[in-house]
Amino acid sequence: KQSRTPLIAGNWKMNLDHLQAIAFVQKLAWSLKDAGHNYADVEAAIFPPFTDLRSVQTLVSADKLELAYGAQDVSQHASGAYTGEISGAFLKQLDCRYVIIGHSERRTLHAETDEVVAAKTAAAIANGIVPIICVGETAEDLEKHGPSAVPVAQLTAALSSVQSASDIVVAYEPVWAIGSGQAATPEQAEAVCAALRGVLESTLGSDVAAKTRILYGGSVKSTNIGGFMKQPNVDGALVGGASLDLTEFASIIRYQK
Ligand code: PEP
Repeated sequence: KQSRTPLIAGNWKMNLDHLQAIAFVQKLAWSLKDAGHNYADVEAAIFPPFTDLRSVQTLVSADKLELAYGAQDVSQHASGAYTGEISGAFLKQLDCRYVIIGHSERRTLHAETDEVVAAKTAAAIANGIVPIICVGETAEDLEKHGPSAVPVAQLTAALSSVQSASDIVVAYEPVWAIGSGQAATPEQAEAVCAALRGVLESTLGSDVAAKTRILYGGSVKSTNIGGFMKQPNVDGALVGGASLDLTEFASIIRYQK
């Protein structure tokens, strides 16, 4: 665990336009600077809507900010007649370090299958962008199959396109915990994250399993982040609602070890 730099990632979803994004990023960067934050100790990343990315890139490069950013989705295709889609090459040009793939809202509201998630994962890697592969069970899955079966199957499917050398991040997000205010317990998160590390080990080998970060997501707040971060297999958090509150998000990044 010591060798994995914790990652706190804020998924803005469809919130904050490009002007609001500039103000937010400036304030967040100042607040972390004031607190003496060292990004090498805890990496921080934001995931604004596509239309904000160019503004965020300009600000981050002009002010030499260490804050990372990425997109909330990417097309599985390289280019062509795909109205409304955004390619990995476009995101790379905007210096996106990461892209979120297979968020439960995309799986549910946009019918993204495991095959699409695998293709998008491959598209990210092909463009030198680190995919944050989201997996997680619904309340119904939990009741029917227990906690690990669905996330393990989803990760196994997503990894079908991944070579062992690729840099990836995994996010375990139980669907019942997203936006519900009802987070998993640290022990529940640890059990599934440990099972997911087992998948990494069996598919990509022990070196990759040891260096890959696995995040927990689902109603993470400043008051519960510490408990998750104490778990040996939890290497950070994917934060939704709380990432839109500057003070709250800064406190999550600055969690007490
Ligand atoms: C998410 O959507 O990735 C998420 C974890 O949301 P929230 O933190 O609001 O539960």
